Amino acid sequence: YAAKRSASAAAWYTDAQEASRLSHLSLLSDLRSAVRDSELQMWLQPKLHLVDGKAYGFEALVRWQHPTRGFISPAEFVPFAERTGYISMLTMWMLEKAITTLLGWQQNYPQQTIAVNVSTHDLRDTSFPDQIAALLQRHAVNPALLKLEITESGIMEDPDSTILLLKRLRDIGLDLSIDDFGTGYSSLSYLQRLPVSELKIDRSFVTNIDALPSTQSLVKAIIAMGHGLGLSVIAEGIETAAERETLRMLGCDSMQGYFASKPLYGEALQTWLTNLPAN
Ligand code: C2E
Ligand code: MG
Ligand code: MG
Ligand code: MG
Repeated sequence: YAAKRSASAAAWYTDAQEASRLSHLSLLSDLRSAVRDSELQMWLQPKLHLVDGKAYGFEALVRWQHPTRGFISPAEFVPFAERTGYISMLTMWMLEKAITTLLGWQQNYPQQTIAVNVSTHDLRDTSFPDQIAALLQRHAVNPALLKLEITESGIMEDPDSTILLLKRLRDIGLDLSIDDFGTGYSSLSYLQRLPVSELKIDRSFVTNIDALPSTQSLVKAIIAMGHGLGLSVIAEGIETAAERETLRMLGCDSMQGYFASKPLYGEALQTWLTNLPAN
């Protein structure tokens, strides 16, 4: 037990060092040049229907290949970009990348969707919906193919004004999803008013669900509630066949996770697309 404690203290210490390394001002200018010098990449993780295993779309996940620091995980730099406001630049970069990718798929994969993660900071910018609308118009892409994922905790920080902004996004024709559901202390009365079409169950409820009857009860209730509100329900972070089977049995609509595929890029993404059954 003592060893475990000191190990976690060491981990905490490293985290603190990491945080100070990252909050260093240079990362800020680095982030600006990252966009300019194409150090950012959009990786895509498949989403599949649980009933027939068919793939219908992807979640876009940012990756940063820094020239000297190496790979920096989004868990490290996204919170930093949020604090400094640089996240809006990153979001617009991801949106444009997603839209041009969708355009490139029009011929061969016209039904595949891409979901982009949007930060709370973006939702405080009242010009955000107009900026997306302009992007969509400029590239003439079907808005229904573009989805936005918004975390439950982000929505609940300021639900009233967020709902107004989400309605404007929905009116443009975008599908909205509540990300990391179950971790954000939603008020149920707000949930009913959110103009979203998908509820995404957080990975913390999915891990080992096949062996955890009480988690199963909880997730079953979440799915019933989602369906009751007319939402489709997806589970993130499915890593095993047993987890997938349990979620399927509980009535979950779709899945995402390493069991089906890790996030893909380049050649691997191309292979995945080529192997999609024709529809
Ligand atoms: P998220 O939106 O909840 O994304 C899911 C995360 O879980 C991704 O981590 C994904 O690679 C990982 N994941 C997927 N399947 C599995 C699995 O089966 N097992 C495990 N252990 N992990 C799995 P990633 O790419 O490191 O992103 C972490 C978080 O960073 C995201 O959580 C999201 O909140 C944020 N993020 C990533 N890309 C963007 C972005 O472009 N914009 C914004 N605002 N946030 C982003
Ligand atoms: Mg997400
Ligand atoms: Mg998520
Ligand atoms: Mg998550």
